[in-house]
Amino acid sequence: MPKLDPTTTEFREAGHRLVDWIGDYFDNIDRYPVLSRVQPGDVEKQFAAAASETGKPYDALLAEFEEKILPGITHWNHPSFFAYFSITGSQAGILGELLSAAINANGMLWKTSPSLTELETLALRWVRDALGLPSDWFGIINDTASINVFLALAAARENLGLNIRGEGMTGRELPPLRVYLSEHTHSSAEKGALALGFGQKNVVKIACDDNLRMRPEVLADAIANDRANGMIPCAIVATVGTTSSAAVDPIRAIGEIASREKIWYHIDASYAGSAMICPEYRVHWDGFELADSLIFNPHKWLFTPIDCSVLFTRKPNVLRETFSLVPEYLTTTDTAEINYMDYGLQLGRRFRALKLWLVLEHYGLERLRNVIREQIGFAKRLADELQMRDDIELIAPQMFSVVVFRKKGTDEENAALLERMNASGRLFVSHTKLRGRYGIRVALGNGATEWRHVQQILDLL
Ligand SMILES: *Cc1c(COP(=O)(O)O)cnc(C)c1O
Repeated sequence: MPKLDPTTTEFREAGHRLVDWIGDYFDNIDRYPVLSRVQPGDVEKQFAAAASETGKPYDALLAEFEEKILPGITHWNHPSFFAYFSITGSQAGILGELLSAAINANGMLWKTSPSLTELETLALRWVRDALGLPSDWFGIINDTASINVFLALAAARENLGLNIRGEGMTGRELPPLRVYLSEHTHSSAEKGALALGFGQKNVVKIACDDNLRMRPEVLADAIANDRANGMIPCAIVATVGTTSSAAVDPIRAIGEIASREKIWYHIDASYAGSAMICPEYRVHWDGFELADSLIFNPHKWLFTPIDCSVLFTRKPNVLRETFSLVPEYLTTTDTAEINYMDYGLQLGRRFRALKLWLVLEHYGLERLRNVIREQIGFAKRLADELQMRDDIELIAPQMFSVVVFRKKGTDEENAALLERMNASGRLFVSHTKLRGRYGIRVALGNGATEWRHVQQILDLL
């Protein structure tokens, strides 16, 4: 008998119990405080100093999970989780994760699991078409948008034709390479530029208008100025649905500048991209076809458990030329097939497409659209009700499923109000600062959220 798992008996018993536990968890999730109340160190100190020598049965461990680990969980799957961007799981997504763990395939090459590669290609083709993206775009799944923007910026840099892959960036005559974004662009783009050696001083933050959107004329000036000073514009990052307020940069106007100037155009739609399965929201990214690369995260708003981020590009060859490096033991003869390891940093690749495929196929696009529409409707209703009160003001236009507001008073009073709301345990909202002013930020995205959950925000105020 094998030493590790002699039979599947224990696994079956514990597995059935676990699935029931998960079902009960969702049925009773309202009972948990959304934001964990533990203090730093509380979780760790309950455990033994060293790993067990003899092992323990699953029963005892599930009890330990409930007693010691669950109190230190902030419930991202709670329908009243309104902070950051809700990482939206779903029951289909959980089953997908379970199956993917059972298969434990590694999709570095097509032949290391043909289904992994082909399901990724298929699911991304479906998603691409569901979002209304051009049919010749190539997609790849990675863990997060942060990694995907890094890959996109690396491709942008290689696309300059300066042979940075071969020669590197140091020890040679190379003018500064510039990356343009806005003060509201997610920090992951700047981090990617830092890691790629652009240098922080070459990350240019373009000013925004009153609605927190990048100003194209300021961008055009910055590019002209940089060229006049001998610098090389490399990439522009625009956002559809910024993290602070879900604002949308003028995608077409920026794209026209990028095309005219031949600068790599990257669109970050990590959060709001999911809304584009509903055709009526596509006006918000009018001009997307001008992009060289685009990111959206099914793990943000397409009911797929973290992690699952999609990078689309119309220049897969550039991505491939940037990253492909095939050691002898990985060479293959099946040249007709995609080997996704050639399009990024990772060699080993999880079967993330399985959960995405399950989510798409189980719910169907129509149901997914209706959930997203309902959530945007709740956000509108919340914004309307807040605006009817004279002690509240919205500090950004309500966009998609995000509402940012503050109560009359100081920043400190609003911060204290946020603390009190979260301490109630009934919901979790986060904050942001827009034009220097503190705002309480609500983002909807959980498939189980009903109006009564959102109503609590009004009740608590
Ligand atoms: C959340 C977010 C990111 C980063 O996403 P990760 O997948 O956590 O790296 C990037 N851009 C935007 C606009 C986001 O909202």
